[in-house]
Amino acid sequence: MPTSAMVPPEDSRTHIIVVGAGIIGVCTAYYLTRHPKFSPETHRITIIESTRPASGASGKAGGLLALWAFPSQLVPLSFKLHEDLAAMYDGAEEWSYRRLQTVSVEGNLSKSARVSRKKPVDIGLPPDLDWVRPDILESWSALSGTDSTAQVHPYKFTMFMLRRAQESGAVSLVLGKVLKLNYSGVGNAVESVVYAPVGSSGDSMSSDSVSSAGSALPKVLRGDKIVVTVGPWTSRLLPTCPVSGLRAHSITITPSRPVSAYAVFTELKLAKGKYISPEIYARKDEVYICGEGDNYVEVPETTDDVEVLKERCEELVKYAGIISNELQGGRITRRQACYLPVVDVPSTSGPLIGPTNTQNLYVASGHSCWGINNAPGTGKVMAEILLDGEAKSADVSSLDPRRYFVSGPLPGE
Ligand SMILES: Cc1cc2nc3c(=O)[nH]c(=O)nc-3n(C[C@H](O)[C@H](O)[C@H](O)COP(=O)(O)OP(=O)(O)OC[C@H]3O[C@@H](n4cnc5c(N)ncnc54)[C@H](O)[C@@H]3O)c2cc1C
Repeated sequence: MPTSAMVPPEDSRTHIIVVGAGIIGVCTAYYLTRHPKFSPETHRITIIESTRPASGASGKAGGLLALWAFPSQLVPLSFKLHEDLAAMYDGAEEWSYRRLQTVSVEGNLSKSARVSRKKPVDIGLPPDLDWVRPDILESWSALSGTDSTAQVHPYKFTMFMLRRAQESGAVSLVLGKVLKLNYSGVGNAVESVVYAPVGSSGDSMSSDSVSSAGSALPKVLRGDKIVVTVGPWTSRLLPTCPVSGLRAHSITITPSRPVSAYAVFTELKLAKGKYISPEIYARKDEVYICGEGDNYVEVPETTDDVEVLKERCEELVKYAGIISNELQGGRITRRQACYLPVVDVPSTSGPLIGPTNTQNLYVASGHSCWGINNAPGTGKVMAEILLDGEAKSADVSSLDPRRYFVSGPLPGE
């Protein structure tokens, strides 16, 4: 029977709270559990998620991985970690990890081009890219090969990593919306989060660490370190943090026959000065197509409140059908929208990763259009920052949140 000396009482363990179960929060929890200084006997992690894990962009993104992504401080590490994870856990089977080629194609769909185009010109598309119609295209170029581009199914990847993190026995998932952070009296340290429970995954909350006056009432969860990984929602919890959200729509189609592994960036001219640029990613058993970000539409309360505009999805359906007979004859399986976390600072494209000016408060947010690519790298360096006090696997000093905003309670808070 374990003695108290062997198993410390639960409340003496270092408690790390991760707010948000998108790919960034989940990878942070996963790499914490794999860090040499982490032990379930000395540490515990609570992930608090307001709706469902991977219910935002992390479950609805394209999943392209590229060595030419940004930021350069993080990309080589993260691309390699994706490869390592896929090798370790059979990522090809579990989350459809595979290498693929990337091309860009330009076409002219304007009326004048259609009239003047007498017969199709052979633009020399790769023979295996036989599901893209060459007759509507004017040119194409290779962007990268299988040495520098890969893909994952982001939802499957995030959920798999969450399960692996939970297997450590030290990670609990709590479903609840964090309403605010509680700061110490003088405001220089964060002590706890206040959240509205929406149900719980089970066992996770012990009465000593959760104060509750009834299940519907907000609860207080004390933490030794608190990591904010809520992507586009970051400024709701940290009002001075310059991360906002940009909505983008996407669809998935089961094509009429299996198609080869390509990511296709398009630029289609519709009329003078009017272009559309859907990105098309062939996956193992479906094709993902996303459009550009909408003009500013405020980030809603939760991922469940994201408004999906039918006309934006129908536009994607229409142009996918023009580009490919296999997509035109396919079955549409998903029409969706989500928010990209964007850093609103001219001097950086983000993300912001590391400690803040407030003791025990950390941020990993603002991953823009490369959060799937950069999630393992972010998780790995966040684990080092939290447990070693500094990032060791990559130099992320230029992404330090303290360079971009001053955290802490607002006056009167
Ligand atoms: C259309 C589209 C396509 C993309 N394609 C790619 C791609 O091909 N490759 C690539 O690398 N990246 C891609 N991205 C970018 C990538 O999806 C994001 O950078 C990444 O998912 C961000 O992850 P995150 O965990 O920071 O945020 P999110 O996925 O938004 O997760 C944040 C989580 O926090 C939760 N939350 C919010 N507020 C609270 C609160 N108060 N309390 C508790 N929980 C809260 C939310 O419910 C959510 O689950 C794409 C993005 C979009 C929009």
